[in-house]
Amino acid sequence: MERLLASQALADVLAHEPRARVVEMLRIIQAEQRAAKTPAPQDAGWYAAEVAARLERADTPSLIPVINATGVVLHTNLGRAPLAACAIDAIMRVAAGYSNLEYDVAAGKRGSRYDHCATLLTSLTGAEAALVVNNNAAALVLVLNTIAQGAGVLLSRGELVEIGDSFRVAEIVERSGASLIEVGATNRTHRTDYEERLGAARAILKVHPSNYRTSGFVSEVSAEELAPLAHSAGLPLIYDLGSGLIESLEDLGLPHEPTARTALADGADVVTMSGDKLLGGPQAGIIVGRADLIERMRRNPLCRALRVDKLTIAALEATLQCYVRGTARRELPALRMIAATLAEIEQRARSVSEQLLAAGLAADVDAGASAIGGGAYPGVELPTALIAVQRAGTSARQLEEQLRSGTPPLLARIAGERVVLDLRTVLPEHEPALIDRIVNAG
Ligand SMILES: *Cc1c(COP(=O)(O)O)cnc(C)c1O
Repeated sequence: MERLLASQALADVLAHEPRARVVEMLRIIQAEQRAAKTPAPQDAGWYAAEVAARLERADTPSLIPVINATGVVLHTNLGRAPLAACAIDAIMRVAAGYSNLEYDVAAGKRGSRYDHCATLLTSLTGAEAALVVNNNAAALVLVLNTIAQGAGVLLSRGELVEIGDSFRVAEIVERSGASLIEVGATNRTHRTDYEERLGAARAILKVHPSNYRTSGFVSEVSAEELAPLAHSAGLPLIYDLGSGLIESLEDLGLPHEPTARTALADGADVVTMSGDKLLGGPQAGIIVGRADLIERMRRNPLCRALRVDKLTIAALEATLQCYVRGTARRELPALRMIAATLAEIEQRARSVSEQLLAAGLAADVDAGASAIGGGAYPGVELPTALIAVQRAGTSARQLEEQLRSGTPPLLARIAGERVVLDLRTVLPEHEPALIDRIVNAG
């Protein structure tokens, strides 16, 4: 070690790296050599190059931007909804420095972080009150813990959903201190199933099935039917809406889905939803509903543990303002991507494929389908134009890997022997980078 540190090769590394870091890296390398029982190289130059390479890798951020050409708009692995320019601006301009996060400027005294988005949310949904927490899973925990800790919650067996990576509704109910009372069958649940167990319950929970659909011999009880039943027994109806639709998208040809406003109008007392799915904003859990229940949630000590941070509040407020201004479809990238027409995408695909052809690649434009993702509109396919790329002497699998392993990673799909790219989910300003990555792959 002393010999290495005294060498000219290591001196060059030590000139711009703290000694302790270099020593630590050398120790790790030597420990690996001992463990692998490989003969240790004697050359100080080898160690210097190895230390420098490892330090550079360690300094590369782990979280990096990628180009999403998969055609899945709300891709959970890729951070769900991309933020609107106004939301990004709000994070930088408002939340990055000092702000009135918990300060009432007019009164000159303490304020609440929960007040910032509340008025926007109540006016957009028709709710009496609103509360924003860390994410929808946290929202559900807070709602159930506040309303039904130590008591039963009725939930249809058809709604015992697993959303993805470790989120199962049944487990969330139990962890929030309530006990689950399953009613009905997997495919069919009737009003009478709830009615029979009303006496044992503190609340009725309805969960949007999000990422799957049932068909055939099926029936469920709507929120509209459940609400009077719950209220007749003095119980609240809690509706986990999942994706958080603020405005209907039926005019785009998408199937009917409840919005937060219609769920409340149907009689739900509390509605929960995500901020970063169809709503098109930052990760957040949005709770809207009855003022007395929301007030109890705000006072629940768990609320502090699940609280939303200032970056989210800034981005969410800016996102919600797009809905108020009536510009959501234009300003929110996720909605803009969903609303993009086949003709628009085809035009972009043709222009990109021409540039790829000019660079000597085989690139066709083919009909295909994009998906919305994020547990919204399962099975719905949006017609799109795919760019199918091939390179002589490179298999589709190799090309896909080359695109994925460069900077920024370009994520595409493989269809048959070709790599296909869907520009629906590529921001127009990223097209030059996309072309550059394909032309210079490998
Ligand atoms: C996505 C989803 C959740 C979890 O929301 P997060 O914001 O990811 O915590 C809960 N319930 C339903 C119905 C969902 O679709």
